[in-house]
Amino acid sequence: MTCRQWLPVVREYCGQPARPYLIGARCVRHTPAKQAGTDEPPSTPMEPR
Ligand SMILES: [Zn+2]
Repeated sequence: MTCRQWLPVVREYCGQPARPYLIGARCVRHTPAKQAGTDEPPSTPMEPR
């Protein structure tokens, strides 16, 4: 699974390893929380070990 965040600057999808979110696959840099301008919690219950 790779990040589906579109990057207009490079005209490519992010493509980094990602986890599923409600809005789709996103890497740690493009989570919904990051998009909203807030920090992601340091860990999440669903994070694979
Ligand atoms: Zn990304």
